[in-house]
Amino acid sequence: MREKYRSFLRFCIVGCCAAAVHYGIYYMLLLVSAPVNAAYIAGYLISFIGNFFATSYFTFSSRPTWGRFVGFAGSHALNFVLHIILLNLFLWLGIHRLIAPILVMGVAMLVQYAVLYLVYHFPARAIEGKVLLSFDTEEYDVPLEHGVEWDPIAQGMEVSRFGTTRILDCLKECGIHATFFCTANFAQNAPELMARIVREGHEVASHGCDHWQPKPEHVIESKRILEQLTGQPVYGYRQPRMFPVDIQELKQQGYAYNASLNPAFIPGRYMHLDMPRTWFYKQEVLQIPASVSPWLRIPLFWLALHNFPLWLYQSLVRRTLRHDGYFNTYFHPWEFYPLGEHPEWKLPFIIRHHAGAPMYERLKAVIVDLQSRGAEFVTYHEFAQTK
Ligand SMILES: [Zn+2]
Repeated sequence: MREKYRSFLRFCIVGCCAAAVHYGIYYMLLLVSAPVNAAYIAGYLISFIGNFFATSYFTFSSRPTWGRFVGFAGSHALNFVLHIILLNLFLWLGIHRLIAPILVMGVAMLVQYAVLYLVYHFPARAIEGKVLLSFDTEEYDVPLEHGVEWDPIAQGMEVSRFGTTRILDCLKECGIHATFFCTANFAQNAPELMARIVREGHEVASHGCDHWQPKPEHVIESKRILEQLTGQPVYGYRQPRMFPVDIQELKQQGYAYNASLNPAFIPGRYMHLDMPRTWFYKQEVLQIPASVSPWLRIPLFWLALHNFPLWLYQSLVRRTLRHDGYFNTYFHPWEFYPLGEHPEWKLPFIIRHHAGAPMYERLKAVIVDLQSRGAEFVTYHEFAQTK
């Protein structure tokens, strides 16, 4: 409540300054014999721009964005009509033209505050549910997929290291925990980052040993290497490129869950429309498929966040979270590297699009939105323990 009064006070100060500018311009234009309405409108428009920035930074302590500018201009369009009607009403009632604007501004300011409060503080609809955020922390080998000669360790690790650092910074900033599916290759070549992942409370799961050439024996080998390196048990597995994996072997090696399934139809990549959308048990190993939207099974994995408009991605995520009670998705460190600056890697547009700093902003926006609605971020192991 106290914050509400403070924001009202700040609103009054900004509003009074804007009104003073408005009235000053109006008064000066009257002195040079401008028509009353024209003088009033000119004053209104000039104080409008300054008011927007002051309202964003000062009244509601948030960054000015185009979206907010549209909301602000929208609320002002109505407000403007209100001003003109009131002005002419008061003049018609015989109120002096130097007094009428002051009355108009007083009444309009109260109406405007109510509208603006809705624009900036529209209460987000709460969602009860768990969010499973994961990062396939592997040596960057995507150029190999596009016919480029590439050494994932010698050349790719720098990209992976950069991206992993960005991801950890983002999670730290938001104060949440996630799950890192690491390849043994990555772990052995970036022990300092593995230490940070563990130190900051994230879960380490296995993403095999060699991302480019997975072998059946990597299921056990990666677990052994990761556990030795982190000093913590590894409970989960995700096969490189989400390829199929022998569930019996996972069970024998003591894995509690498998997150190697994307139950979407992505031509040339995944064809799993016959698989369940949500978690299920197979041979006593919990299967946690990547989330797709209900009914149409629109994939909500990393490529979707690159290429959908942010509002669409967020709205599909919220819908899926409400429908399923949980939401599970995955990204890669290299998405947070400015891939667009390297045409020699021959990456398609859909991978380069928004890669680098924009992905950081997008990921953060998704996290902050879900946090503000009360969703709970958990690791895969925490989730598995409740099933
Ligand atoms: Zn991978």
